[in-house]
Amino acid sequence: MSHRKETAWLLAAILAAASACTTTESHHNADIDVVGMDKSVAPGDDFNAYANGGWIKSTPIPADKSSYGIDAVLTDETRKRTLSLIQDAANAGAPASTDARKVADFYATFIDEAAIEQKGIAPLQPQLDAFAAIMDRHALARAIGRELRADVDALNNTNFETGNLFGIWITQGLGDPSHTYPYLLQGGLGMPDRDYYLSPSPPMAQLRKQYLAHIEAMFRLAGFTGPAVRATRVFALETAMAGVHATRVESEDVHSAVPWKRADLSLKAPGLDWPALIEAAGLSDSPVFIVWHPKAVMGLSALVARQPIEAWKDWLALHAVENAAPYLPKAFVGEHFDFYDKALSGIPQMRPRWQRGIDLTNAALGDAVGRMYAEHYFPAATKAKAEAMASDLVKAFARRIDSLTWMSPETKLKAKAKLVTLKVGVGYPDRWRDYAGLEIVKGDALGNAYRAELYAYRRQLDKIHQPVDRGEWWMTPQTVNAVNLPLQNALNFPAAILQPPYFDGQADAAHNYGSMGATIGHEISHSFDDQGSQFDADGRLANWWTKADFDHFRAAGEALAAQFDTYRPFPDLAVNGHQTLSENIADLAGLMVAYDAYVLSLHGKADAVKDGFTGDQRFFISFAQSWRSKVRDAALRRGIVADGHAPEQYRAETVRNLDAWYQAFSVQPPQKLFLPPGSRVRVW
Ligand SMILES: [Zn+2]
Repeated sequence: MSHRKETAWLLAAILAAASACTTTESHHNADIDVVGMDKSVAPGDDFNAYANGGWIKSTPIPADKSSYGIDAVLTDETRKRTLSLIQDAANAGAPASTDARKVADFYATFIDEAAIEQKGIAPLQPQLDAFAAIMDRHALARAIGRELRADVDALNNTNFETGNLFGIWITQGLGDPSHTYPYLLQGGLGMPDRDYYLSPSPPMAQLRKQYLAHIEAMFRLAGFTGPAVRATRVFALETAMAGVHATRVESEDVHSAVPWKRADLSLKAPGLDWPALIEAAGLSDSPVFIVWHPKAVMGLSALVARQPIEAWKDWLALHAVENAAPYLPKAFVGEHFDFYDKALSGIPQMRPRWQRGIDLTNAALGDAVGRMYAEHYFPAATKAKAEAMASDLVKAFARRIDSLTWMSPETKLKAKAKLVTLKVGVGYPDRWRDYAGLEIVKGDALGNAYRAELYAYRRQLDKIHQPVDRGEWWMTPQTVNAVNLPLQNALNFPAAILQPPYFDGQADAAHNYGSMGATIGHEISHSFDDQGSQFDADGRLANWWTKADFDHFRAAGEALAAQFDTYRPFPDLAVNGHQTLSENIADLAGLMVAYDAYVLSLHGKADAVKDGFTGDQRFFISFAQSWRSKVRDAALRRGIVADGHAPEQYRAETVRNLDAWYQAFSVQPPQKLFLPPGSRVRVW
């Protein structure tokens, strides 16, 4: 479970959102940002506005972004650094077949817009011709299978979106952490979630109209006859798929996942020619599949038999065009942007091509770029400092478990066993992925992307027959984010988040613990949120709780869910307290443990007053400033529907559950965030 937005959401945003070079001059303001506050707001009325109101008022969201804030600033900075690394690799004339050469060639080929323009749709045509030649449902199943990729992630990055009929995720078994299995998830939609197809709310109905028009435009651009008829067919098919999809909240229920033997697929989910699909997907030698969305898999399989084959062929073609769009001529890029970024996320303007190129190079050759990044921008001293801080936080968490009055000694033992085996990865993985078998051809932008995707998929498939690697990373070092891996009982803190202003060697303890400390605490806490707490020290889905302890824990979670349910940024749409519960528990527990660690770091001395703020005040302000963000309405709506994280403004208000915050700012009734002591939620 990640710290910030889901990867899919981020990627979608990345693929045409984020970042001009507007701000970003480096951010070495140690300590809190006093100028960005709004002291006219009472902290107890709106803590986010108090800590961030000055910045919110004075900072526009750049035209090419759906949101803007501390992580976008840092992502921009990271991208600029990455560009210079890629340029250096190109200028140094790295030898053929080295990773550095591949990175340079992949990027250079994408940047050569004139060459891409000149080829038109030719690079995609063979794939479209293959779909057009499908004559029966056997061939259809093979085509669907060939498109599958390891493109979802149910528990680490909590990414449930794929335009393929199924998403594949390859990792340890839920009940068997010493072996690797393929997981099968629902997929097939072009919009982010079933709600976009089924919700009666007017903004969603409006988006459906825009989506239908967009599909038609894509067919027209790709030279298909009868684009309107095809668009109607595909839209109807996807709406039927949405009808059998699990909801976002249901997707978080780890207990609905079931192991099926290969033969069970045909028996339990009739409709699809499963042997043909499985073979084409390279999964023939997997005896067991873990089916994450069994009902949806049954429903989707039945639709393959029931819906017209022409609709399926058009659906395959549409998704191939959408996937290829970033590598095709301007007209495709523009049409894709107009729907996916402008309509779905509210972004007015496309990012410059070089930025899209960096993100796509990261997606294709993540570890090759990450290795260069870590070598240049993540010195050993920073790594050591971050490791020490993470180890402080783990210790503070253990103390917090010891001091819980409601938890029985036997549950405490098991909880602490999880901390002992927790594997904390800082900066970058111990072993880098290599790209020796990946062919990058100068001048073949789409082919490069396709081969890189397939190479990544095959690497995942290979894991099925190898010993489990608990050191596998699920984020690249150049990602501004962090993630907890429940099945590996491990954490990844990429190099790119371990830099100012999140983590700053020059800043004081109040700042670093309020910001990066709370982030580290957040990731540790994911091992103990409503999802993570169901996995034991070995990463096995197993109940290690006594009933009374679990009931207490559950009740605390319900109280937190109810607190978040009250946040309503739109009249027709509120935050879903259950959909975001894991993240909210992690925020709350992470903040509490970071506060403990901050107090411990003072060794009983009072912290200095700076700029008129006590140490405790600066700790909480630093926390709220680490959530500093502005977001466009469309993107806010999209996040509430499809993301497991609450919007940043509400995450900053987590402080209202800590007694120390009330003392620090003398928060009293009837201030809006005031909660009577009995209503403040303490999960850990
Ligand atoms: Zn998280």
